[in-house]
Amino acid sequence: MNQNWHGTLIRHMLLLITGCLVVGLISGHYGWSLAIGLGLYLAWTLKQLLRLHAWLSKHKADEPPPDGYGLWGEVFDSIYHLQRRDQRVRGRLQAVIDRVQESTAALRDAVIMLDSEGNLEWWNRAAETLMGLKTPQDSGQPVTNLVRHPRFKEYFAQENYQEPLEIPSPTNDRMRIQMLITRYGNNEHLMLVRDVTRIHQLEQMRKDFVANVSHELRTPLTVIFGYLETLLDNVEEVNPRWVRALQQMHQQGGRMQTLLNDLLLLAKLEATDYPSDNQPVVVSTLLQTITSDAQALSGNKNQQINLDIEGSARLKGSETELRSAFSNLIFNAVKYTPAEGKIHIRWWTDAKGAHLSVKDSGIGIETKHLPRLTERFYRVDSSRASNTGGTGLGLAIVKHVLLRHRGTLEISSVMGKGSVFTCHFAAVQLSNV
Ligand code: ADP
Repeated sequence: MNQNWHGTLIRHMLLLITGCLVVGLISGHYGWSLAIGLGLYLAWTLKQLLRLHAWLSKHKADEPPPDGYGLWGEVFDSIYHLQRRDQRVRGRLQAVIDRVQESTAALRDAVIMLDSEGNLEWWNRAAETLMGLKTPQDSGQPVTNLVRHPRFKEYFAQENYQEPLEIPSPTNDRMRIQMLITRYGNNEHLMLVRDVTRIHQLEQMRKDFVANVSHELRTPLTVIFGYLETLLDNVEEVNPRWVRALQQMHQQGGRMQTLLNDLLLLAKLEATDYPSDNQPVVVSTLLQTITSDAQALSGNKNQQINLDIEGSARLKGSETELRSAFSNLIFNAVKYTPAEGKIHIRWWTDAKGAHLSVKDSGIGIETKHLPRLTERFYRVDSSRASNTGGTGLGLAIVKHVLLRHRGTLEISSVMGKGSVFTCHFAAVQLSNV
């Protein structure tokens, strides 16, 4: 195998030439014998080449190469060994691919591969049960033709897949699926889908429980509150020792009522995806009324409240919901800004959409609290809440209302200097009617 073929070849050639010269010496035709000798050698070499070509083009798998002599035999064997090694490597690779495919096929979560246009390329078995994809008919179909939920179409088109999307399964309305899309390679999409019915049901139970408790508590509380008001109206008939207690009960009863109303509003907001009364809302008028309410709330704190409105575009949505979101932000600015402070409310539209910013020169919020501020009952300082009479639900309501109006909330704040709460609404929410 490791023979020095270079030397052997030279020796063979020398032998052939010497042979030809000897024949030439005997016959007296040096030229002819040399030409015939070399011609025969060339013919033999060509024959070997043709045999190699025939074997390469026609041989079946595992068929050994034809027997060859000398260097040609070595070439045949080397090619054969290379082929065998290549086959072994391919076999190993195929085994790895098979294992990966088997394990993804056995996954309970659906894995779907889409090309850059969003057409289906490959999916596992779970995708058939969770998404109703059919093998092989659906191959090459756009995914938006098969999953027709409007929220999915919107989610897929916006190309921002940071948050997962939860929708009912196309195969079964009672099943909830959560989708997560990741882009890879040449803008292809990898879609992971899992069944979140159980989590959704638990979440639903929690929402229903809170909504039912709030609803059930409302009637007894109204009765108690009503009696307290009657007693306080006739305060002269009440034993003076009880007056203070009654006043405190009345105040706390009022707080409980606001809390229940906020909880019920949140439950209502969570019950559906989009507001039912989707009408173009004249935000300028809405903000003017809220600003005058804010002036009243500010009372004798002598705060400077400015309203700045640019553009006349209307916002599609529910006026009631927007009123409660905007007033929560504006009333918070009044509550958390000391006397003589400044509050600047600005509404403007640009190419990106519409924006509302509420800027105050109040106490500010520490940066570490900002990400958790919109959680229910999250308070920066719990002792502060009782002074302001807040429920801790205001910003949670704002967040939900914005979600339903394709909006986002941005909060920035500097301790002791003030805060800016900005709502950004997508341009599609604007209406020029
Ligand atoms: P609350 O009903 O207690 O005001 P919110 O959900 O409206 O509840 O606000 C949550 C917390 O965020 C508040 O307790 C308050 O500490 C803080 N906060 C909200 N708005 C402002 C603001 N403009 N300036 C300073 N702190 C604020």
